Amino acid sequence: MHEHESLYLDGAWVRPAGGATLAVISPDTEERIGTVPVAGESEVDAAVAAAGRALRAPEWAGLSPEQRSGLLLGFAAELEKNAGERAALTTIQNGMPISIATAAEGAGPVGILQYFAMLGAQPAEERRTRPDGRGVTVVRKEPVGVVAIVVPWNFPQVLTMFKLAPALAAGCTVVLKPSPETTLDALELAATAERAGLPAGVLNVVTGGADLGAYLVAHPGVQKVAFTGSTAAGRKIGEVCGRLLRPVTLELGGKSAAIVLDDADLATTVQGLATSSLLNTGQTCYLSTRILAPRARHDEVLAAVSGLASALTIGDPLDPATHLGPLVSDRQRQKVEQYVALGKDSGATLAAGGGRPDRDRGWYVQPTVFGGVDNGSRLAREEIFGPVLTVIPYDGVDEAVALANDSDYGLGGTIWTTDVEKGLDVARRVESGSVGVNFYDLDVNAPFGGVKASGVGRELGPEGLAAYQQLKSIYLGQEISA
Ligand code: NAD
Repeated sequence: MHEHESLYLDGAWVRPAGGATLAVISPDTEERIGTVPVAGESEVDAAVAAAGRALRAPEWAGLSPEQRSGLLLGFAAELEKNAGERAALTTIQNGMPISIATAAEGAGPVGILQYFAMLGAQPAEERRTRPDGRGVTVVRKEPVGVVAIVVPWNFPQVLTMFKLAPALAAGCTVVLKPSPETTLDALELAATAERAGLPAGVLNVVTGGADLGAYLVAHPGVQKVAFTGSTAAGRKIGEVCGRLLRPVTLELGGKSAAIVLDDADLATTVQGLATSSLLNTGQTCYLSTRILAPRARHDEVLAAVSGLASALTIGDPLDPATHLGPLVSDRQRQKVEQYVALGKDSGATLAAGGGRPDRDRGWYVQPTVFGGVDNGSRLAREEIFGPVLTVIPYDGVDEAVALANDSDYGLGGTIWTTDVEKGLDVARRVESGSVGVNFYDLDVNAPFGGVKASGVGRELGPEGLAAYQQLKSIYLGQEISA
């Protein structure tokens, strides 16, 4: 059992005044595996105040970029020590297969933090001579301030680190609100930061639901919001931040397309689709869940994708051989099953799955594939967030691109071809924040984010650091010594 009574606020473990708790439930056994306290508004106030003090405290604000970078590298080293434990915590809470959790949730945050520690070591000031020679301007990169980080349950550790690492590297301080489904790993992250010697108030963790998140993002002591989650919640947060003129990064939902070109090698394509379309049992924002196939090859593609879905191992997420685990919650399974029912009624061909696997407990569904799907149908337009794939026929590459772009979303996407140059040409035409050719994997050194209803702003890469820095220009009438 994972029993917690305290939250991490201002460098100390504090029992919330309200006494409310949240049960942590295993999606595999449906049994309680732990309890965490729920923060109230007074704990959020305390966390924001602590972050505000830490922002100006000499222990943090007084560090040079090199010193801060060194501290963050120490934090990364601590994270490396408990990588296995953090990966397992994610798996027992959200059902992510442990093979994925080990790489993404265990090791992933270590590499991201090391990368931003390296970027953050650069000098914060630059001197620019005016083009007309009338003096010099000092351009400073300053921390944007107290950052509210709100994350979902699907990749809790890595999505937190997409925000926490650049925020800290820029000199910001943070109040993190994890999703109610994944709190244990967030508290472990706080304990790791404490062991690494992060000064009090630099990272604070408050646990609770959407109402607490709404209170945090609108808090007057917050200067920036970084959110990953649903488009519906993102719109609400965007409205609040717009009214407050508060910078915000929104990483939202997706319904990306895999364009299988007429020259694609299906064996390679299907092997790639196993991760780029079904990773984490379909609970990944960028997945290419609309598979666009040349009409002449539609049945062949449908058979290959159905073969893949039927061959995947469904089971205990802690078993390294498992490809697909349970969905995160009963609510999520009900949502996915509603879409499967919709697909069955829509006239599309059910080619694989469509039900539950033979297990007596856990929120499992079979990976499901529909063929002959209309791109205008709800099955093709709405984010399902489960292992449900649609195969959609197209006539000619122009129509493939048009179908890929005919979506409210624009987050990921893939092109499958034996001609990489041709794949690159098609990728350039896809309206999306990222596209993979014969492969899809995020790059810590390249910006990630969405267009249209998939979000605003970018994470990762130097652009991801810039989102936590504000610029100040100090005009000097004459040159001063360096
Ligand atoms: P969600 O939007 O319901 O919740 C996400 C987080 O926001 C939770 O911590 C929740 O408590 C909080 N929250 C909800 N409403 C809020 C509000 N009005 N104000 C402040 N906080 C609020 O999403 P979810 O169901 O937990 O996660 C799944 C969604 O996340 C999917 O739509 C998926 O596509 C998206 N996602 C996007 C990315 C990306 O990078 N674009 C990555 C992973 C997941």
